[in-house]
Amino acid sequence: MNDIIDRADKALKFQYLCDHCLGRLSAHVDTGTTDVERGRSVREAVARERAARNEDMPETTFCWLCEDMFQELERFAQETIEKLGTIEYDTFLIGTRVDPAVQDREERLWSEVGGEKAEPIKAELNREIGKIVERRTGKEVDFKSPDVVAVIDTRFGHVELDIAPIFIYGRYRKFSREIPQTRWPCRVCQGKGCKRCDNTGKMYQNSVQEIIGNVVLKEAEGADHFFHGMGREDIDARMLGTGRPFVLEISEPRKRHLDLEALTILVNENGAGEADFSGLRRSTRDEVRQIKAATPDKVYLAEVKVHGKVNKGRVNEVVQSLSQARITQQTPTRVAHRRADLAREREIHDLQLMEFAEDRLVLQLRTESGTYVKEFVSGDNGRTVPSFSAALGFPCEVTALDVLQVIDTNNEG
Ligand SMILES: [Zn+2]
Ligand SMILES: [Zn+2]
Repeated sequence: MNDIIDRADKALKFQYLCDHCLGRLSAHVDTGTTDVERGRSVREAVARERAARNEDMPETTFCWLCEDMFQELERFAQETIEKLGTIEYDTFLIGTRVDPAVQDREERLWSEVGGEKAEPIKAELNREIGKIVERRTGKEVDFKSPDVVAVIDTRFGHVELDIAPIFIYGRYRKFSREIPQTRWPCRVCQGKGCKRCDNTGKMYQNSVQEIIGNVVLKEAEGADHFFHGMGREDIDARMLGTGRPFVLEISEPRKRHLDLEALTILVNENGAGEADFSGLRRSTRDEVRQIKAATPDKVYLAEVKVHGKVNKGRVNEVVQSLSQARITQQTPTRVAHRRADLAREREIHDLQLMEFAEDRLVLQLRTESGTYVKEFVSGDNGRTVPSFSAALGFPCEVTALDVLQVIDTNNEG
């Protein structure tokens, strides 16, 4: 205790300090009380010791360090509550921006009397304003993942909100062979608008992302949407079956209590004929990471054109020989401009002939994640080995591709 009183005595000889600033000097020794209460009792103890030594206490004046900023706690809290009142949230955290001159003075004080046991002014401001806001709003402070951080600039009493994004998990199906999974900015103008894109800034006018994202963005009154899919299919492939898992992220939502059932109806109306959505529920950034890292098997249905005449017996032999084949795929020519040219090994887990006509087949395949199905069928000029074309002895090409299932073992549904 003597240590605390000595430090306070020294500090008061250096400059006049308010109870808050005096109390913060020993915040880490004498816990279990507030800074202002500690400051008050330490000041009294200093006064008693000085009286015994016939020394005076300094006259009460403006706090040299904070310039009596703590008298404005109520005002800061009130501004914060008003600002927070414009959005939906359950948890919050207070952050403060303090005049650098105040922080400089605090550091000078620490170098004068020792700052090892002290707490910075920001920590006290954040905590004390947080307590008032908690009491008045009934909402809780959350240090780890608050819905919103209210940042108070203590020079001007100005409050800014940093609103955490919301995440919504779901599965989508895509029935159109003309829309991509995600928003696709124009390559020429990067989204600004030019002749090439008819001033839309986009290569494709619609996407699965925009069908759901635009609707949810409007409901949530957010700033923007981001789409995190568990992989993606080609634009000209349909996504059928139970759909593909994804997480939609909405940044800076002013509303976060969304009625996901009502939203499902709205997004499905918006997607009519092109895409639909199911299983919408709240998600997290962690789940985004899981979804991006997942490597699910996929089941495809491929319509194949054979350039030549083959008989069914021969096709069946080839199908059997390639079911459970390990194949090596050099990065396909069609994506080589944006991916590294690598050779990857993949497994065809299952291959079946579903329909047969002389020059047209329908194949069903179950493949390891990352298999290029079109190239497995065509051979991609020898870049995929073995391939369906090479085994059959005739050039073959996929004329239509559907994903029937994304086998996500964590979220079957
Ligand atoms: Zn002060
Ligand atoms: Zn453009």
